[in-house]
Amino acid sequence: MSSTKAPTVMSRRELLTLIGSVAGSAVSYRAMAGMGLVSESTYKGPIKLEGNPRGASVLILGAGIAGMVAAMELRNAGYKVQVLEYNNRAGGRNWSLRGGDSYTELGGFTQKCEFDPGLYLNPGPWRIPYHHHGILDYCRRLGVALEPFVQVNYNAFVHSTEAFGGKPQRYREIQADYHGQIAELLAKATNQKKLDALVSKEDQEMLLASLKSWGALDKDYKYAPGEASSNRRGFQKAPSGGLSARPVYSTDITGMSELLKSQLWASISAGHNYEMQTTLFQPVGGMGRIGEAFGRELASVIQYNAKVVKIRQDSKKVAVTYVDAKSGGEPRTASADYCLCTIPLSVLSQIDINVGAKMQAAINAVPYMSAVKVGLQFKRRFWEQDEHIYGGISYTNLPIRTIGYPNTGYHSGGKGVLLGAYVFGPNAFEFTALPPAERVKKAYEYGAMIHPQYKQEFENGIAVGWHRVPWTLGCAGGWTDETRAQHYDNLCQLDNRILLAGEHASYIPAWQEGAVTSSIDAITRLHQHVVNR
Ligand SMILES: Cc1cc2nc3c(=O)[nH]c(=O)nc-3n(C[C@H](O)[C@H](O)[C@H](O)COP(=O)(O)OP(=O)(O)OC[C@H]3O[C@@H](n4cnc5c(N)ncnc54)[C@H](O)[C@@H]3O)c2cc1C
Repeated sequence: MSSTKAPTVMSRRELLTLIGSVAGSAVSYRAMAGMGLVSESTYKGPIKLEGNPRGASVLILGAGIAGMVAAMELRNAGYKVQVLEYNNRAGGRNWSLRGGDSYTELGGFTQKCEFDPGLYLNPGPWRIPYHHHGILDYCRRLGVALEPFVQVNYNAFVHSTEAFGGKPQRYREIQADYHGQIAELLAKATNQKKLDALVSKEDQEMLLASLKSWGALDKDYKYAPGEASSNRRGFQKAPSGGLSARPVYSTDITGMSELLKSQLWASISAGHNYEMQTTLFQPVGGMGRIGEAFGRELASVIQYNAKVVKIRQDSKKVAVTYVDAKSGGEPRTASADYCLCTIPLSVLSQIDINVGAKMQAAINAVPYMSAVKVGLQFKRRFWEQDEHIYGGISYTNLPIRTIGYPNTGYHSGGKGVLLGAYVFGPNAFEFTALPPAERVKKAYEYGAMIHPQYKQEFENGIAVGWHRVPWTLGCAGGWTDETRAQHYDNLCQLDNRILLAGEHASYIPAWQEGAVTSSIDAITRLHQHVVNR
């Protein structure tokens, strides 16, 4: 921070940059959510496209969530609909990798997923917040069963190579000690009358009561070994039954200075942010179940392995040229009255399309963020059996950032797949630059610093570097305030006969809800245009 600026004038952007620099871009994104820069979904229930489209046809490019929401709703409203999709499956980034699947990335590396039956990795989306009403409603309408996604697990680890000799700490202990000592400090300041100018006498009494409750303080407003603190951070010997029943309170509270230096406080805030607050959901069997259900619903209108290479509109129609994504061959053409294009901007900016200068500038303006996910299969669910971690997430300052535990199949006794790395920012570029097998090896090596059992139990893994995914070339659109101000509205306008939709055309970037709400907004405007012709 510049020395000429007092802390009180730190801008929101500066604060986000600071948080981002200590805790990684994922935290920065979560911080944005917490500061109201990421808004709640506007979804208000199934749309009704009233009025007769009089035989109008729409060509939809991309069978991701945005494309398939549009295809389903426009078809139901009486439009002639055709979808062209690059992949041989529906869903786009909504995708689960299971045993037997194979995936070829840009540059030609093909990975065959060797997971046992029933196990999977969600390389892209993995959680749905309760307030993403749109995507949840499509799950309901398509019969996609949901189960809880555990965001915060108090018994998972927070870990830093720079603190506690590199030994992972339990989330529960760090959080209890941090909150407890903040509460104690504030209680001390209150009792020493240092807050008199800021807090009324009456409020001070309530403040002290609330600090005692929030921070688990004792009768002297101290966060000290005893029943109150042990009820938060856990016991040295937990209460049980019979003659050996007496609990032993926990004594190894970590002091404030060590906690602050450890920076582990950055990891314990994740679940407070709006997008991460309980309840979160995941589809039973993998996030890809949503795309698969849409795909079944729209089987007759989706053409797979169709790679769009050119989009041309004139005063009468839109003509789209595509090639077989697998075998190449002669280009083919499909045409319709209108085109809704949901191809990610990273790809669309390289496709020949005749839209106006403003929309073209918007298409070219948005870089795509980096991310890598690695799934690791183990012979046994040691995190449950040895460490009693059932679902949720451990956080680390290692490049892998995250270890995600399966939120289902507890005590199943068999093998299990961990999200062994969820890498962002510069580390994600480093991981992406490695061949997939090396990415898996890195995730294994770093993860073994937290769970030494990796060394005995590891079986196989798969790694998706999103900048090498040929059909997205990145994780999600990376808008800034400046690019939004200049280009966002131009991106979303109907350009003669072409309209764009997708997470990139939303204010909920990198969430499926952005794809749903953008699609609904786009087809509502398109429909108004069509019925008013
Ligand atoms: C690592 C990661 C983590 C995420 N985590 C979450 C999460 O936890 N929860 C959540 O809700 N969201 C999450 N997201 C975001 C979510 O996946 C997206 O916002 C959403 O799936 C985007 O849908 P879409 O329809 O806009 O785009 P896409 O799903 O990308 O669909 C676009 C479609 O266009 C097709 N296409 C591309 N090029 C061509 C071409 N030339 N011709 C024909 N078709 C083409 C693609 O194959 C694809 O099917 C995550 C994404 C990533 C990558």
